[in-house]
Amino acid sequence: MVRDMGTTVWTRGQAGPAQTFDSVNPATSEVIATFPAMRESEVAAAVERAQFAASWWAGLDWKERRIRLLAWKSHITRYMGRLAELVHTETGKPLADAQLEIILAIVHIDWAAKNARKVLGARRVRSGLIAINQASTVEYQPLGVIGVIGPWNYPVFTPMGSIAYALAAGNAVVFKPSELTPAVGGWLVSSFADVVPEQPVLQLITGAAETGQALAGSAVNKIAFTGSAATAKKVMAACAETLTPMVAECGGKDAFLVSADADLDAAADAAAWGAMSNAGQTCVGVERVYVVEGVYHTFMEKLSERIATVRPGDDREASYGPMTMPGQIEIVERHIADALARGGRPVVGGMSSISKPYISPVVLADVPEESRAVTEETFGPTLTVTKVPDLEEGVRLANAGRYGLGATVFSGNKKLAMAAARELRSGMTAINSVVAFASVPALPFGGSGDSGFGRIHGADGLREFAQAKAITRQRMRPLANLTSLARSDKDMRRTLSLVTLLHGKRYR
Ligand code: NAD
Repeated sequence: MVRDMGTTVWTRGQAGPAQTFDSVNPATSEVIATFPAMRESEVAAAVERAQFAASWWAGLDWKERRIRLLAWKSHITRYMGRLAELVHTETGKPLADAQLEIILAIVHIDWAAKNARKVLGARRVRSGLIAINQASTVEYQPLGVIGVIGPWNYPVFTPMGSIAYALAAGNAVVFKPSELTPAVGGWLVSSFADVVPEQPVLQLITGAAETGQALAGSAVNKIAFTGSAATAKKVMAACAETLTPMVAECGGKDAFLVSADADLDAAADAAAWGAMSNAGQTCVGVERVYVVEGVYHTFMEKLSERIATVRPGDDREASYGPMTMPGQIEIVERHIADALARGGRPVVGGMSSISKPYISPVVLADVPEESRAVTEETFGPTLTVTKVPDLEEGVRLANAGRYGLGATVFSGNKKLAMAAARELRSGMTAINSVVAFASVPALPFGGSGDSGFGRIHGADGLREFAQAKAITRQRMRPLANLTSLARSDKDMRRTLSLVTLLHGKRYR
């Protein structure tokens, strides 16, 4: 049996009923490697192994985990060339882009390893006057086993936002990479085993939807899912059966606002990179630009000029590679056709920009807001550019969609830019640069609406993979023991007087 799932070819294994699938180079269609499509029983076995590994890993102290995670970071850094080649081969993205995503992943492992204790470790909190006899402590304990389901577009950086933080928080991880990038996933897991050989703290399971469903329905303690909103709903339904919590990092339709006082050269350069890099297959890629009318024409000129030098290909000079998942090409095609049919104007490229497996840059103007190219995630090297009377209208239009992941504001006025950034319904906003928030490990990353919920990265990302544990320790007898059946009326009266004194003051 053979069925085509994007660049992945599925075949019935020769020896028995087990299925295997090939990972295929999207630029050349060459088979890279063959992997098992794991079934429920194999997933359950991996999770069981992970449960044992989790207690060993959680039993190490912060320093021991930190050393091991930093050793992993160092290993990835030293062998970055090999990993980058693999990312390039499996996704088709240029080598330099593969290196860039690995660098970002390294920065996140480093931050998670170095900050886990500070963020999650036990700390005293004030008990307050009513409980003054108590010593109060809060700490964040690991959840156990985290199931990580990853996408293919940034096969190192994206899952690492969950894996590194989950491991640093003291959990074991069972990782199912996308069926389009299993070799990259396998490399990451075996590199971890090289530096942490004692227990299978990070394991690989391979397969597509069925394997992912099995993981979501398994005995994991949390699912960290990255992918489309449609798949997130299916994962959430499987998680609901066992009340397994999940964090959902889904798609976006990120807006890019250009105000009248913006540096237009920098804005055009950033919009071009944000939209076209990685063939637009970026969850926080720029898909819509709203430009204030006074600078619209100049911006458009600069943008077109910048994009004129951009081209896809498989050679070392290409700006970006092929579409990694062939099925996405039809979606991009539909969005362009719909935009043009509704009166959109092609400024750069158009329908002829599609030449499988490549799509050359497409910039569309005057595209009505209800078009698919404005409302749905396109996930291709396309951009709509719309004129707005002022920045407020840009914010209003940016906020009108179902997604709420990233956003960009270009303005020379710090106050104006900060106000717009706060108003934007996005989890992250970059001012005067594009996607910079992804490179700051201390910042949380995540969205709302169809972009998902929960946060990876930063302190919030560490807490996402831990549960708060509250402890009180009575350090002296209370002045009035209110939690005793021997409580006296006098104790109650004294306490009521204290509460009135502390909290009964009139305000305003
Ligand atoms: P996808 O939803 O098709 O697949 C994501 C993962 O889910 C894959 O590993 C896939 O095998 C698995 N899967 C598929 N069906 C499943 C099911 N029924 N149960 C369990 N698992 C299942 O997404 P994709 O095409 O791999 O990735 C592209 C999407 O990911 C885009 O929407 C993109 O914006 C989003 N993305 C989001 C972020 C983020 O951080 N917010 C980062 C990268 C990509």
